[in-house]
Amino acid sequence: MNVKVAVIGAAGRMGREVCRAALETEGIELVGGAVEPGVPELGADLGELCGFGTTGIPATEDPPESAEVLIEFTTPDATLTHLSYGKPHVIGTTGLSEEQKREIEKAAASVPVVLAPNMSAGVNLLREVVRELSGKLTDYDIEVVEAHHRNKKDAPSGTALLLARAAAEGRGRDLEDVAVYGREGVAPRQDGEIGIHALRGGAVVGEHRVTFYGLGEEVEVVHRALSRRTFADGALRAAKFAAEASPGLYSMRDVLDA
Ligand code: NAP
Repeated sequence: MNVKVAVIGAAGRMGREVCRAALETEGIELVGGAVEPGVPELGADLGELCGFGTTGIPATEDPPESAEVLIEFTTPDATLTHLSYGKPHVIGTTGLSEEQKREIEKAAASVPVVLAPNMSAGVNLLREVVRELSGKLTDYDIEVVEAHHRNKKDAPSGTALLLARAAAEGRGRDLEDVAVYGREGVAPRQDGEIGIHALRGGAVVGEHRVTFYGLGEEVEVVHRALSRRTFADGALRAAKFAAEASPGLYSMRDVLDA
């Protein structure tokens, strides 16, 4: 049985990629796509929007009733509004505040929600590697550097925070207590701090680098997303998971372990 999905933010960079992947993926049926009210893409054919070809499925203001799972890559405020649809929801939107995450957690009491700041399998495995390195290389200095395309709105990226949090967890610390965002002026490094830095430019899909600086060696792990398709494929995998899951808040780790 196919899982019927609708994509919210279907005209966005990730939205188009997810629509295309949904049209090409076995076990998934794209039944709709929602765009922001009033945008020129309203009513456009979703297949044409994503470069797949004509499908007869129009972009609408709301996802169709027939959708079993919603996949969303939009903005934090829009994402919160769409919780009211009360459907299984895969959320890739980043830049959510702690309060917004709590709202999502509340909604997940009655429907399955997969919330993942990075849907790629590689990053989610890297998270485990970073946690382990951090726990073992206890006196090494940790710096997280990410680069993204010039249009990315939030900084640092949700993935940089995910990796930095894993590094903090490896040392039994809360990221909030050890994170330093960028440095300027007189800013000597304190023991145990985790530096987080964001670069923005051009068309970079997403690059993350976590470096452990020791006095006699440096250990570095790097992830480069080569195309948005890797996130789209992860989102579809999460949609298949959400279609079967009980209500609750899930991470990409839960999806990959299932
Ligand atoms: P984008 O190109 O700006 O796409 C966002 C889309 O959402 C835009 O088309 C925007 O329309 C639309 N939108 C805003 N409000 C809406 C509403 N109320 N209803 C329907 N659509 C609405 O950005 P992007 O690069 O695709 O990224 C989107 C989000 O996904 C960001 O938070 C990004 O960090 C995140 N992301 C996550 C992953 C992951 O793996 N989890 C990977 C890549 C990106 P307008 O332009 O008309 O406002």
